[in-house]
Parts: sequence; structure tokens; C-alpha cells
Amino acid sequence: MPCEDLPTGESWRSSVALRHARDSNEDNSVMATRSTLVYSAAAIRRMMGLPASVPVQLREFLDVVWVWVKGDRPTFVSKADFKRHFVERRQAAAESLTVIDWLSDPPRYMVTNPETGSNHLVVEQGDRLDCDCEDYQWQQRFIGRGCCKHGYAVLRYLGFDSLGDFLPGNFSPDEMRPAANA
Ligand SMILES: [Zn+2]
Repeated sequence: MPCEDLPTGESWRSSVALRHARDSNEDNSVMATRSTLVYSAAAIRRMMGLPASVPVQLREFLDVVWVWVKGDRPTFVSKADFKRHFVERRQAAAESLTVIDWLSDPPRYMVTNPETGSNHLVVEQGDRLDCDCEDYQWQQRFIGRGCCKHGYAVLRYLGFDSLGDFLPGNFSPDEMRPAANA
């Protein structure tokens, strides 16, 4: 059955906005620039398994990030590791989402989190999967492209592992794709 009777227009958009407000409690305070989107203290705490209360300082260089965790010697973490974490976190989150085919031209998908009931609309746009969520908007704004967990849920639904695999000729504009994907 086509799902064309789903609510559209302002009422739908405003209900989505309300859900955004409810869901947007994660990391948003530090999502201010391209760098802090990926090379964040929150990311390094997750990568190192540290509690949120541990003071961390970061300093970005060309290929590496200087990381200081209170009580430890400073160390360098490669930017590739941060990018891999960025992608893998969204891929892992995508596993609990459900995808419904909505409309076919262009292909559109409704991605739902069964736990929270939040919905996001993902639209195939040639070389990208646009989403109406805040994470995707931040990635578009500060990285110029990206893929959110809803986009990864659609890729999974379609049988692809990454945005690069999905694109024609394996063209990979998503520099967020893990470097060591093999
Ligand atoms: Zn999204």
C-alpha cells in the first residue's frame, strides 16, 4: 500500500519540529564549527571510554589532534580515527531505526525510532541522502555533505554498507567514510 496519505505540509513539519526539540539534547551545544562537529571533546571521551566529567583539551593539526586528558600525558589521535568514530556511531544508531518506503520520485523514506516515536524524512537526491534532522543540517552546513543515522538506516534498508557503496561508480564524496573500510 502506498503511504501517500501520510501528513504533509505545515502540520507535519511542525510535529517534526516538536520532535526535534525533544530529541536534540545530544552534543548540540558543541556543534559550532566543522572541527567541533567531528573533533570534539565528547567524541574523544566516547572513544576513550571516559565519563563526561573528565576535563579534555583538544588542539587540531593537519592530520592529527593533540589530546590532553586530565591526569594523563598528552597524546595524538589521528583525524581518521575521529572520522571513523563519527561514522560508526551513526551506523550503530541506525541499526535500531525502522525504514518505510514512502514515495518513489524522488525516492523518499520515513525513518522511525521505535523507542521514541520520532520520525525523519530521508530523500534520495542523486549523490546524497538528504534528511530533515538537525545532525544532517549541521553536517551539510559545516562539512558540506554528510550522512546521518537516518541516512545510514536507509542505506542498510537498501542493502548498502556506506554512502560510497550506494553511489554510482562507487564515487565517494563522503569524506566521513571510514578510511580503513576494507
Ligand atoms: Zn537524519
